Amino acid sequence: MNRILVHLLTALCCALMAAGSLATAPPGQALTAIDARYAQLGGAAGRLGAPAGAEFCGLRNGGCQRNYQRGSIVWSPATGAQPSYGAIRQTWLAYGSQNGRFGYPTGPEVCGLRDGGCYQNYQGGSIIWSPTTGARISVGAIRARWASTNFENGALGYPVSNEECSAGTCKQRYQRGLITWTARAGTVLSRDIDVASSSVVVVNKRRPLSPARYAPGPLVGVGGPSLRSDAAQQFTRLLADARASGVAMVPVSGYRSFDTQASLYTSYVNQYGRVTADLISARPGYSEHQTGLAIDIGNSNGACGLQECFAGTPAGAWAAQNAWRYGFIIRYPRGQTSVTGYAYEPWHLRYVGTTISSEMRAHRLPTLEHYMSLPAAPSY
Ligand SMILES: [Zn+2]
Repeated sequence: MNRILVHLLTALCCALMAAGSLATAPPGQALTAIDARYAQLGGAAGRLGAPAGAEFCGLRNGGCQRNYQRGSIVWSPATGAQPSYGAIRQTWLAYGSQNGRFGYPTGPEVCGLRDGGCYQNYQGGSIIWSPTTGARISVGAIRARWASTNFENGALGYPVSNEECSAGTCKQRYQRGLITWTARAGTVLSRDIDVASSSVVVVNKRRPLSPARYAPGPLVGVGGPSLRSDAAQQFTRLLADARASGVAMVPVSGYRSFDTQASLYTSYVNQYGRVTADLISARPGYSEHQTGLAIDIGNSNGACGLQECFAGTPAGAWAAQNAWRYGFIIRYPRGQTSVTGYAYEPWHLRYVGTTISSEMRAHRLPTLEHYMSLPAAPSY
């Protein structure tokens, strides 16, 4: 063997041995486990950059830490020296770093997952990141259920929210579904393609109904038009409250069957041509109205009916302000045509349930596509 190589290997071996034996030495005296890890990660030329301060100890469970320009290395007797940086680090810090539920990292960040994702494991769970879904926590029973679907490679995809708990119920949303946990029922998984039982289905120009002639059930009348029963119940409340506050709102169009949508779309094509028809109406099998979860509203005097100026009328303004409280969103907002594929429709309400409507409002997510981290659907 090349003598220089032998020399290098010997030096490396002894450096690592020294690092192990001196791992608990007071800071500043000798090569520590943190120093060794830093060197292994490429030193100042690596992901962490140059040191920013000396190593310090006295952390929870006998831990030590050193900060660098772009992160830190944290060491504890139980977990060794592990790096922490980037978006995953930010989420770890937000949950209290080693003092919180996650404790110390048990390994480095691991990348190369589907769609460019990375994860890092901790004593109390994992944090998983992808470019479009951000760094989200994954813990406990909900993590176990997600694992059983093959993590990000399975039907649910990456988590798009952190686990959130209130009143004994915990929920975590994924790219294509939701896992809910209660002590009584354990974990329950609902996939967003399960149109019949879920209100989170996304129908757009890239996501037709399946089957194309899908029909929801049961339908309930809401004063002319009809909606699926859960949406109907909430819309009835919305309508009553709007009227109680002096707004003369009326329902205009709710559930439309495949055949109804087909004749409507054909009439638009005949009237305006295909390009315009596609901007203002859905092809049969692609309409939210076919889910029984969408309803167009108007003013009782017909002011600005199905026109952009509807937003400035009493019914339009009230809906924009209050529909979310009942689990409805303005599905095709202004300025989002490149995402939704439709012109601004301030009259088209879509039932998604109050959990989602509240989250979208809180996080200022303009469309269901944003909320679900789904690709834009500007065209068929
Ligand atoms: Zn509509």
